[in-house]
Amino acid sequence: MKSEKVVIVGAGLAGSMLGVLLARRGYEVELYERRSDMRKENISAGRSINLALSHRGLRALQKVGMDAYIKREVVPMKGRMVHMPDLSVNYQPYSAREEDYINSVSRGGLNKALMTNAEEYPNLKIFFNMKCIGYDFQNKEALFENTNDGSQIRVSGETFIGTDGSASALRDSMMNGGVRRFNFNQYYLDHGYKELSIPALEGGGFRLDESALHIWPRHDYMMIALPNFDGTFTCTLFMPYEGEHGLDNLDNKDKVVSFFREQFPDALPHMTNYLEEFFTNPTGALPTVKCFPWNVKGDVLLIGDSAHAIVPFYGQGMNCSFEDCIVLDECIDKFGGDWERVFTEYSILRKRNTDAIADLAHENYLEMRSSVANPTFVLKRQLEFEMERRYSDFNSKYSMVTFRTDIEYYIAKKKGEWQDNILMDYCSKFSSFEELNIEEAYKLVQNWKEN
Ligand code: FAD
Repeated sequence: MKSEKVVIVGAGLAGSMLGVLLARRGYEVELYERRSDMRKENISAGRSINLALSHRGLRALQKVGMDAYIKREVVPMKGRMVHMPDLSVNYQPYSAREEDYINSVSRGGLNKALMTNAEEYPNLKIFFNMKCIGYDFQNKEALFENTNDGSQIRVSGETFIGTDGSASALRDSMMNGGVRRFNFNQYYLDHGYKELSIPALEGGGFRLDESALHIWPRHDYMMIALPNFDGTFTCTLFMPYEGEHGLDNLDNKDKVVSFFREQFPDALPHMTNYLEEFFTNPTGALPTVKCFPWNVKGDVLLIGDSAHAIVPFYGQGMNCSFEDCIVLDECIDKFGGDWERVFTEYSILRKRNTDAIADLAHENYLEMRSSVANPTFVLKRQLEFEMERRYSDFNSKYSMVTFRTDIEYYIAKKKGEWQDNILMDYCSKFSSFEELNIEEAYKLVQNWKEN
């Protein structure tokens, strides 16, 4: 057992995953979580009921021995089912490769399983109802408030890792005096989101095809639906706050009913409780956070959303946060308990990648709400599918981001954008898949160079 104590702030997805990785190494790990224990009390796990889990996240879960959980608890989604305004439906597979698909997983279920996995280590302890209210850089102590009785404690440790999400208290402390010249940028999308649901069929079963992620692209906005294990779907409506079709304008039942009847007539019969949900469920905001540095010497480090919250349109926030944990673990392999070297190396390796996925996620909103309905884009996806089927060294941008753990996000972005431009240009000259020359297209994307 190592005598060093590592304090992790936030036992969400990244915090619990990191707890397991550090406890396995023998560190004494203390996790402090603001909320109560969701395994004991029926509280929601927070925003977004289910999440798309893909290869980067799967790799991390496998590393902490959660293969069985994955097999048991996820719903595979092999492609996008695009529901057009004229009621036609267009299926776009994510990849031609058998093993390349995304998975719908319950946020709460996964978080609970990770916490249970973490608590199997006798050298790890989770303290619930403990809200971090700051970090004292002089004394190297974190301050916590007990949310039950308001009492406060100070916690010391060898090092502190903040996994307390997009509104991180540890990050606030770094910004408010803990770090000189702390760079911070927070950008809110002028669109927000509402979660709605589609219940299971009476007697069980799914009302829509459960092997796909469903999208209703409507240019300025969109609705998506991801399947849950119990036969339900969680729908998320992403819309601007302002304008005729804005969330702020949908302020009475008549407007909401006519909006859904006009825009989602095929989904509506399945959404048996949408009106109540629309007015009771909160509207979520969509911030992107970029900041740097992430560490203060070897004393404090931010990882996951606390360091880089991103919009959800590539389905990568959790996957990226899990990949953070793996990269940090690999840095510990290299530099042992020299936390300053570990944190510095980690930050150098990750920053360009988290910036890249933040930008890709932003850009993908346009792809999901609009491009998926564009005939040239659809043709390009068919071409990419065929190229992935024929050529083992070809990967679409989507595949590089989602299914390739050996390609860093920043490379996926650079190469993917270069490739997209060429293939969109090529496809714009044709109107059907039969007209395309696959080999010719493949040759066009052969000579990519990083610089
Ligand atoms: P969080 O999951 O936010 O966990 C932070 C934890 O810290 C929580 O338990 C919180 O209670 C605790 N905490 C907060 N403040 C304090 C404090 N002061 N003191 C102590 N504890 C504190 N990602 C994907 O990969 N795929 C998807 O499909 C996807 N869909 C999404 C859909 C939506 C609508 C949203 C909003 C996000 C989505 N994401 C998705 C992103 C994903 O949810 C986040 O990237 C991921 O949860 C980040 O994990 P984290 O542990 O860093 O932060």
